[in-house]
Amino acid sequence: MRAADLLQPRPEGLYCPPGDFFVDPVRPVGRALVTHAHSDHATAGHGAVLATRETLDIMAIRMGDGFAGTTQAVAYGEGVAIGGVSVGFHPAGHVLGSAQIAVEREGFRIVAAGDYKRAADPTCARFEPVRGDVFITEATFGLPVFRHPDPLDEVRKLLHSLAQFPERTHLVGVYALGKAQRLIALLRAAGHGGPIFLHGALRRLCDYYASRGAALGELPDATLARGRARDFAGQIVLGPPSAFTGPWVRRFAEPLIGFASGWMQVRARARQRGVELPLVISDHCDWTELTATIDELDPGEVWVTHGREEALVRWCSLAGRPARPLHLVGYEDEAED
Ligand SMILES: [Zn+2]
Repeated sequence: MRAADLLQPRPEGLYCPPGDFFVDPVRPVGRALVTHAHSDHATAGHGAVLATRETLDIMAIRMGDGFAGTTQAVAYGEGVAIGGVSVGFHPAGHVLGSAQIAVEREGFRIVAAGDYKRAADPTCARFEPVRGDVFITEATFGLPVFRHPDPLDEVRKLLHSLAQFPERTHLVGVYALGKAQRLIALLRAAGHGGPIFLHGALRRLCDYYASRGAALGELPDATLARGRARDFAGQIVLGPPSAFTGPWVRRFAEPLIGFASGWMQVRARARQRGVELPLVISDHCDWTELTATIDELDPGEVWVTHGREEALVRWCSLAGRPARPLHLVGYEDEAED
């Protein structure tokens, strides 16, 4: 069996001819297998969607119940047969419900990792190494310069600032799916037991995470109608990045702007966004994790989907590993990290 007979890049996404399905298609198709619910991987309008229960729930929360013709939930480790192809979903450690998708036929296995990280994250199941003949990896932070610091040290910076500037409202930008809940869990792990206020756009997914067992603590609404701007002095208020470009932030007392993203290790990006307190917290692998994962899995071949494909492909080549970039379009490296 040739790898390209099992999965091949098409404009819509990775396509499996014998199973007649796509993995993370970026436009509507008949049957889609979805790794996770970030908007560049999970789109509306497919005839049928196979994904984890959590991914399906989050897609419904974000896009409405009618986001697909039919849906089927698959548990981690459960095998599903589709047209002579065996399909398995395995934890990717990226966000709640995120999965790597293993596609197997006649003993030949391709593992599409989707977005993934190796660092511990109490809000989702930890990445599970799955060996295969081909490993398909992302390369969002696929340059040697990218090294993520310890996320607990990053939230300690926020708590230190809070202690240092008790008159200022600490407003932190976080993406709604994954980053918001992980930052909250990290703050709890660092000993911050008080309320963490939420912009309305973060409410539903935080509530959903809590309903699935994430211990997020007290998360009141950051509504000024119920209090005065001064009430938020010395408090942490989380909001989606989109809210930071509008008038929302100016309603708070002496706002101090933070942003939690892997991209905050690029100083120019922090400056562009007017971020005073950059927190380098990523739900993707850094260079060390990407290369260590490839070494650990030791696949026969590596395919690189999106991000900095060329550098990782070159690293593989220098290490004697066959590798190629897939040049898939539609996956954004800054979409929701
Ligand atoms: Zn993602």
